Amino acid sequence: MLRLHDKYFEPFISATDIDRSVERLARQISSDFPGEVPIFVVVLNGAFMFASDFLKKYPRNCKISFVKLASYQGTSSSGQVKHLIGLEENVEGQTVIVLEDVIDTGNTLVEIHRIFSGMNVKKIRVATLFYKPEAYKQSFPVDYVGMKLPERFVVGYGLDYDGLGRNLPEIYQLKERNMINLVLFGKPGAGKGTQAVFLKEKYNLVHISTGDVFRYNIKGETELGKLAKQYIDRGELVPDEVTINMLQAEVDKNQGAEGFIFDGFPRTTAQADALDQLLKAKGMSVSATIALEADDEVLIGRLLERGKLSGRSDDQDESKIRFRFEEYNQKTAPLIDYYKKRGKFFSVNGIGSIEEITTRLSEVIEKLDTAVNK
Ligand code: AMP
Repeated sequence: MLRLHDKYFEPFISATDIDRSVERLARQISSDFPGEVPIFVVVLNGAFMFASDFLKKYPRNCKISFVKLASYQGTSSSGQVKHLIGLEENVEGQTVIVLEDVIDTGNTLVEIHRIFSGMNVKKIRVATLFYKPEAYKQSFPVDYVGMKLPERFVVGYGLDYDGLGRNLPEIYQLKERNMINLVLFGKPGAGKGTQAVFLKEKYNLVHISTGDVFRYNIKGETELGKLAKQYIDRGELVPDEVTINMLQAEVDKNQGAEGFIFDGFPRTTAQADALDQLLKAKGMSVSATIALEADDEVLIGRLLERGKLSGRSDDQDESKIRFRFEEYNQKTAPLIDYYKKRGKFFSVNGIGSIEEITTRLSEVIEKLDTAVNK
């Protein structure tokens, strides 16, 4: 195992396997351009090691150039304008083959295409050692791929984590941390917030309630608060993008946490996907989703009671409460299947005393294959 900064990594792709892929790419590309002298454009920094090995194996004449993408704050609508630095050759009329270490979202590729489209090249091809198909969001073809990678954080062979790891001759992946990450699931009033208070103490977890964060922002009259208020007052869900960004920021604030309780998140499939991805990028995953079950009529009674004490406007009006249940049935209930398919869904009876319900939840948690049980 390897440590870089605050994270641990484990071996993922051996130097031998990388070498085989590089060899295959060199053969494939040289046979596709038999009578030509292409110019390989190496995108720094990450591609330096791949390019060096690849070019040693390239059996024909070729030219080589190195570029870097630099960004500056521009005045375009996107705010960020990228440009290439380092390309000194005139590439007009030439076959350009871009050498990339990894293509994930494809944003860099778009910039490269945009920049070369004004240079009158004969043709442009893209060769990448690693490609993350699940992350790729563009339509440009990726012409040559050494290996496909799952959406996972990797370092080594040119790729870095915050400046470290580029010199490693093999690829390492982020090690899954042994932590408990619980999703507390259930309709409004099911007792998620109440139970989270006890579970976070018992298992030393960080409790993130998206509803609480929204209410905190509403109280502070922040931009986020003003935006969220319009939805919350009507009993509607706040748009996914807003909620996901907020949750990401809350997770980022708690880097050293031993685990999390997500309370009121995810509430849509898009949020569940986003949670999976953001946890994966940190070497974490959802350990279990535990639903607290109770009948609508019991919940309505509880919420109206709570509304009297807390002053929450969305808890004081029965029609708004029923609307929130409808939102739940339509948008949130599909997550039951989502987590069942992954073997991560559990449910407990949410009727009883607070202690009884904490005990039921603890029984589920203690059967999980996580740090707490080792
Ligand atoms: P809660 O305190 O969890 O009942 O949330 C109160 C309100 O905040 C909800 O009715 C939604 O309007 C909003 N909210 C909380 N969590 C989310 C979420 N994950 N997605 C969208 N809206 C949310």
